[in-house]
Amino acid sequence: MNAIHPGAQPASSNRYDAIVVGAGVAGLYTLYHLREAGKKVVCLEAGGGVAGTWYWNRYPGARVDSQAYIYQYFFSEEVLNAWRWDELFPAQPETERYLNFVADTCDLRKDIRLNTHVDSATWDEATQTWHITTAGGAGYEAKYFIGCVGMLSAALKDPCPGRENFKGLACHTSAWPHAPVDFAGKRVGVVGTGATGIQVIQTVAPLCGHLTVFQRTPQYSIPMRNPKLTAEDNAAYRRNAAAMRKRVRETFAGFHTDLQTGSYWDRAPEERNKFLEQMWAEGSLCFVAANYAEVFIDEKVNAEVTAFVVDKMRKRINNPELEAKLIPTTFGFGTRRVPLDTGYLEAYGRDNVELVDVSTNPLLRITENGLQLASGKEYPLDILVFATGFDGGSGAFTRIDIRGRDGQTLKDYWDKDLRTTLGLQVHGFPNFFTTGAPLAPSAAFCNMQTCLCQQADWIIDTIKYLDDRGLHAIEPSAEREAAWVKHHDEIANSTLFPKTKSWYMGTNVDGKTHRLVTYLGGDVAYQQACDEAKQSGYQGFILT
Ligand code: NAP
Repeated sequence: MNAIHPGAQPASSNRYDAIVVGAGVAGLYTLYHLREAGKKVVCLEAGGGVAGTWYWNRYPGARVDSQAYIYQYFFSEEVLNAWRWDELFPAQPETERYLNFVADTCDLRKDIRLNTHVDSATWDEATQTWHITTAGGAGYEAKYFIGCVGMLSAALKDPCPGRENFKGLACHTSAWPHAPVDFAGKRVGVVGTGATGIQVIQTVAPLCGHLTVFQRTPQYSIPMRNPKLTAEDNAAYRRNAAAMRKRVRETFAGFHTDLQTGSYWDRAPEERNKFLEQMWAEGSLCFVAANYAEVFIDEKVNAEVTAFVVDKMRKRINNPELEAKLIPTTFGFGTRRVPLDTGYLEAYGRDNVELVDVSTNPLLRITENGLQLASGKEYPLDILVFATGFDGGSGAFTRIDIRGRDGQTLKDYWDKDLRTTLGLQVHGFPNFFTTGAPLAPSAAFCNMQTCLCQQADWIIDTIKYLDDRGLHAIEPSAEREAAWVKHHDEIANSTLFPKTKSWYMGTNVDGKTHRLVTYLGGDVAYQQACDEAKQSGYQGFILT
C-alpha cells in the first residue's frame, strides 16, 4: 500500500466520488456533467476565481484566437439563450465574464473551492482511493482524480536571474496583476514573441513611453479580422447552435471549417494563389485549420504557402532592415502555433518601439534598473514582461506530486518518456484522468473548447461505465499505452512539426522529452479511437 501523504486526514465531508482540479473550460464542463450524473464531486481551483486560462492570463491584449461561436459551450440552452458576445474574437475580460456567467447560470460555485492549490495526489491501492492534499492543509479523498489543469498553465521560470533586484514591475504574462497597470510614459521591455508576446506588444506599444522587444525567434502572423457583433449576429449564433455543436465534432481541428479535400497540387498556380488569398481574407485560423493538410506534411507545399505569408508580412513591415529581423527563416509556416495579430508588425514602425535580437546576444541578468544582455549592454526599464511561455501539456500535472501505484510519481514517469493513453489516462495511475494532456488533440492543432469537451465526455462516460457495473478502477495496460504512443508518433513523424523547435515539441523546456504534445490524427479519428475504447468494453484497459 502506498504511504498516504502526511497531513491528509480528510473529514468525512471531504470524501467525494470525483475530484476535479481546475475550474477552467474543461473543469467547469466536467464538474457540471458529473454532478448531472449524480456523482458527489468537488472542483479544487488554485485561483481566486473561475475561468482557468482566462483568469490567469489577464495581460494587456489577451484575446482568444477561436471565434466566439465555437469557443462557447453548447450544453446549456439557458447559457446559449442568455449570453451575448461583443466581439468575434473576445478579449480576456469578455471570456472570463462568460465563464463566470456559466458558473452562475449552472450553479457551479457551490461545488468549487477557490484558492485551493492541490499539492499532491496519492493513489491508495488497498482502498482504491485518491488522497489529495492542498496548500491550505485540507485533505480530500475520491475514487476518481481528474486533472483539468490546463495545457498551458505551468509558466516557465524567469529566463535569467535577478528579478529580486529589479525596482520596477517584472511579471510573467500568466501572473499579470489584477489591478490596472499604468504604462503611460513608462519604459517597457517584453521578452518573447509567441502568441502571447505579440498580443502584449501590439497593445502596449501605443500606451507606453518606450517599448523594447527582446526577440529570440521571429513568428509568422496572420492579421485578425475582428468585427463587433450585433444582436442579429448573436441571434444567428443561437439559431445555429445545434448545427454548430455537431459541426465542430466533424472537423479535423474542432473548428467549423475543415481541412481541404484533394491535393494542393490539383489547383493551378493562379488558383492556389486565389485560394490562399480567400483564406487570408478571413483573418482567422482558417488559414491553418481549413488549408490543405499537405501544408504541414509536404516541404514543397509548405514552402509555397510560407512564401505567400512572407510576402504578406513584407508588405506590412515595409522596411528592409525590420523585415530581415521579423520574418522567420529557420522554420516553415504553421509548424509553430500561428498567432492572429492586430497591428503587431505595424507596431515596429512606431518611433517608440525598438526590436533587439537576443538570439546571439542572450539575456544575462535582470538588474536593479532593467535587463542586461550577454554583451554587457543594459536596457533601463520600468516594466518587464516575460511572455516566455509554458511547459506545455505536462508541466501543470508534474508540478503536482502525483503518485500512482507503488509510489511511482508521474513526474518520474514522464521525465523518462512523455506517454499517455489517448491523452486521457496513464498506465500505473488508476482512476486518474486528464484533459489537455500530452498525446490528445490540443491547442497546437485544435479549437480547445471542442477537444477539451470531447476529452471530458470520455472521462464522464467512463466513470459512469465503472460505477454502473460496480467496478473499482480503470487504467490502461502498458501494451495499450505503447500502442497509442506508437500510433501518435507515426502520425507526428509523418509531419513537418518535429523539425521545428517549439513548445509543441517540448524543446522550450530543458530536459523534456521531445515528443509532439498534440495528437495530429485529427479530432474525428481521435473521437473514433475514444468511442472504440468504450464500445469494446475498454479493451486494453485493466478494469478491477
Ligand atoms: P511561446 O509560444 O512558447 O513563446 C515564448 C516566447 O518566449 C518565444 O518567442 C521564445 O523564444 C521566448 N523566450 C523564451 N525563453 C526565452 C529566453 N530565455 N530568451 C529570449 N526569449 C525567450 O509562449 P506563448 O506566446 O505564451 O504562447 C504559448 C501558447 O499559448 C500559444 O502557442 C497558444 O497556443 C497559446 N496562446 C493562445 C492565445 C490565443 O488564443 N489568442 C494567446 C496566447 C497564447 P523562442 O521561440 O526562441 O524559444
